[in-house]
Amino acid sequence: MVLVPLLATGAGLGVWAYATYEPNSPLFGRSIGRGPRGRRAAYLTFDDGPNAAATEAILDTLAADRVPAAFFMVGEHVRRFPSIARRVVAAGHEVGNHTLRHRKLHFLGPRRIREELERTHEIIGNVTGRAPRAFRAPHGYRNPFVTAATRRLGYSVFGWTFGVWDSDPRVSAEEIRRRVGRRLCPGAIILLHDGDGYDPDGDRRRTAAALPGIIADARAAGYAFRPLGELAR
Ligand SMILES: [Zn+2]
Repeated sequence: MVLVPLLATGAGLGVWAYATYEPNSPLFGRSIGRGPRGRRAAYLTFDDGPNAAATEAILDTLAADRVPAAFFMVGEHVRRFPSIARRVVAAGHEVGNHTLRHRKLHFLGPRRIREELERTHEIIGNVTGRAPRAFRAPHGYRNPFVTAATRRLGYSVFGWTFGVWDSDPRVSAEEIRRRVGRRLCPGAIILLHDGDGYDPDGDRRRTAAALPGIIADARAAGYAFRPLGELAR
């Protein structure tokens, strides 16, 4: 809807910026940013792990509450915490590629982008025994070379419906829970963080602490959490 006036005014730079920085823009290939709006389903996604302090606590909550989730992993973090990555796969959650070093891809050329994606594809496959089938770009930044690389790997590309700035250290677990509750809507793909893209030891325990309340609130509002893979094309 934003796209139409941009094109009508011939604002080429605006279109480029929209396609690059808008995580759900269709211009650089389809990106899935929300599920069907007709029922109270929601999708939990965790980016930037695995992480020693947060991922396992999150897995414990998901197991106790029987909730599926998707984890978009950073290749270097998988290398550092292989057993945690294996635990995510063993629990049946979706695992996605989130690049090797959490590079912002929009200014990189085809060779670097392929390397970021393909090396991560190999690492996740080798470590967990399961090849990822989904991709999410760091910060959602993409360009046409990203599209080419994800097509080669046969990935579905995901954006998100909303994030709650849970990576900001000033935001408490209670506030993370409140923000998710406030923005929840049918089909929402919820962006949370079990890791820090640039620091394998980054602290995401507040997100882990918020999760039981997030799940309880959503269920009280009539929502069911569904596996992200059902939205894949
Ligand atoms: Zn990220």
